[in-house]
Amino acid sequence: MADTFRYHGHGMNSSKPVFASESPYSEIQPDEYFDPEIETLSSAALRQLQEAKLARQLDYLYARSLFYQDKFRAAGLRREHFSSLRDLQNFPFTTKEELRDSQSACPPLGRHMAADMASLIRIHASTGTTGRPSFVGITRRDAEVWTRVTARYFYTQGIRPSDVIIHGASLAMFAGGLPAKDALEWIGATFVPVGTGASEKLVLVARTLGANALHCTPSYAIYLADYVRRETGLDPRELGFRKIVCGAEPGVGIPAVRAKITGEFGARVTEGLGNADMVPIIFAECKDQSGMHFNGQEYVYVEIIDPETGQVLPIETGVSGELVYTSLERECVPLLRFRTRDRVTILATSCACGRTSFKLRCVGRTDDMLIVLGVNVFPSAVRDVVSSFYPKTTGEIQILLDAPGQG
Ligand SMILES: [Zn+2]
Repeated sequence: MADTFRYHGHGMNSSKPVFASESPYSEIQPDEYFDPEIETLSSAALRQLQEAKLARQLDYLYARSLFYQDKFRAAGLRREHFSSLRDLQNFPFTTKEELRDSQSACPPLGRHMAADMASLIRIHASTGTTGRPSFVGITRRDAEVWTRVTARYFYTQGIRPSDVIIHGASLAMFAGGLPAKDALEWIGATFVPVGTGASEKLVLVARTLGANALHCTPSYAIYLADYVRRETGLDPRELGFRKIVCGAEPGVGIPAVRAKITGEFGARVTEGLGNADMVPIIFAECKDQSGMHFNGQEYVYVEIIDPETGQVLPIETGVSGELVYTSLERECVPLLRFRTRDRVTILATSCACGRTSFKLRCVGRTDDMLIVLGVNVFPSAVRDVVSSFYPKTTGEIQILLDAPGQG
C-alpha cells in the first residue's frame, strides 16, 4: 500500500498560478483538509501503511545507521525480529542524551546520521535540557516531508492561500522557522518574516500590509498585546489579526491563556506542537479548538508511554504519558522510539472536523527548561554565567520576573 499511496491534496505553488505549474499538485480545493485521504484514513489502513513504512525504515537503519547498528547489536535484536508494529515495543528507546553524546563523539552530526553529508540541504539546531545545541540535518526528501507535515499544521489551523501571515518567531537555526516559510509558501499563503525582537516593525508591517494572521509563541502574543497598548496607544485588535497560530511552547491549551490572547486581538487562537529532532511541528488544532490533531500520519509513528516504566499505553481518550516518536521515512537522522520528554493527555480519537487522527494536549515536560519569548532558557546556564563573575558573585541565583507571568 505504501508504494501505491497517492496524494490528492494540495501541492506546492498551487494557488492562483499565473503560469502553469509543473507540480503534480496543481489543483487547490477550498476545503477542510490539506491531504484529504491521509487526514481521514481509517485507523486500520493507517496502521497498514505505517507498518510497511516502518519495515523499510528499519531496513535503512540496519544498513545505514552506525548508531542503531550498535544499539541493536547490544540488545540482541536482528532485523527479522520486527514483523509487525507490535514488535516495536521490543526495540530500545532513544534519548536526547544519546543523540548529544553521539554528536560529541562523532562530529559534526553524530553516529546517528545515516545519510552522506553531501546529500544534506540544510542544518537546523535543536536545543535540549543542558543548553548545548545539537544539530539536525535534513536531506531534500526530509525537507519535503517536513514541509508537507508543517503545511498540514497551518492548514489544519485554518490558514489558506488568501491569508497574509506574519512570522513573529525566530528564523535563524530554529526548526520552526524556515520550515514554516516552506510550508506557507506551499499552501500559497503570503509569508512575512518579521522574526523576533522586532515588535515595532511587526506593528508597522501588520498595519501596512494588512496582515490577517500571526504565527508566534503564546508568550510573545501576550507580550505583543501589552507592547501595542503601551507603545502605540492602539488597541491590539486594530492590528487586524483574525487568526493567531501559536507554537514552540505550551500555553494555549490553558483556557485562561487562550481567552486572554483571543480577547486581546479578537482572533481565533490555535496551537501546535512539534519536535526539532523529528518534525518541527507535527500536532495542530483544528477550528474545533479541542486539542491538537496528529498530522504526521505516514511519516512518524507515535507511542505514548508511562515515563517511569517505559510501558506502552493505549492511545485512548484520557490516557496520559510521554510522547515517543519513531520516524517512518527519514534519511538523515532517522530515530527509533525517541523519547520527547513531552507529557501529553489524549483528549479524543475522533473530531467534528472529520479528521481521524487522535487529539492531545501537552501538559508539560519532564525536564526543567524554561521558554521565554520562544527562546529556550536553562536555569543552569543562567547560574553558569552568574558564577563566572566570581568572586563578585557566589553562584547562588534567584530569577525574578519584572512583569507578571502569563499565569
Ligand atoms: Zn478536528
